[in-house]
Amino acid sequence: MKDTFKHKGLRQQLVTTLKNKGITNEAVLNAIGNIPRHLFMDSSFLDYAYKDMAFPIAAEQTISQPYTVAFQTELLQVQKEDKILEIGTGSGYQTAVLCELGAKVYSIERQQELFKKTSKFLPKLGYRAKKLIFGDGYKGLNEEAPFDSIIVTAGAPFVPKPLLSQLKIGGRLVIPVGDDVQIMTLFIRKDTKQFEQHEFGEFRFVPLLEDKN
Ligand code: SAH
Repeated sequence: MKDTFKHKGLRQQLVTTLKNKGITNEAVLNAIGNIPRHLFMDSSFLDYAYKDMAFPIAAEQTISQPYTVAFQTELLQVQKEDKILEIGTGSGYQTAVLCELGAKVYSIERQQELFKKTSKFLPKLGYRAKKLIFGDGYKGLNEEAPFDSIIVTAGAPFVPKPLLSQLKIGGRLVIPVGDDVQIMTLFIRKDTKQFEQHEFGEFRFVPLLEDKN
């Protein structure tokens, strides 16, 4: 598990690319500049780790494109100590970004293989989520609710009701909604029943699937 000057240099280029694409939040850019993304990928993809692209990880899943990670994270407006629920732990890269921002992260993954791999891997890099859970993200995590924000990192065919109801008042849900193509959608909870909704264009994710595997 090496992180060399070459990797750091490539990472700074990636940060510049993200700035050019419109990411402005300094804390988010710093997090991406700090995290050794190459270690989250299979070694055969090492050379691609700092390109702004999604890549395959285990269990037919992908590590999201850095721009997408940055875009979603910006929408969360993370404050230190925020309690955040992530649906779709995957490689743990997004989890690491949230940890870098000082959030208390709870993350759910439905693929047992990935859950096990990432649970072992993240602490080795010093990233300690509050809880990594093997389970079904459609249900959210009622026992730890309410959350300051919730981020879904797989394409949701619809907005799961439990995720909306597990937000604090003022809390934010960032979720890509759609089947083949998803619209990045932000919900802000105004009060018990009312949510403000904003849409941010098209993205492509692997699907949010039902039940554990
Ligand atoms: N945040 C991840 C993105 C991984 S891709 C990263 O940074 O690498 C989306 C992930 O969502 C996959 O790992 C997939 O297994 C997981 N997933 C799909 N449906 C799910 C569900 N219902 N509950 C929890 N995780 C789910």
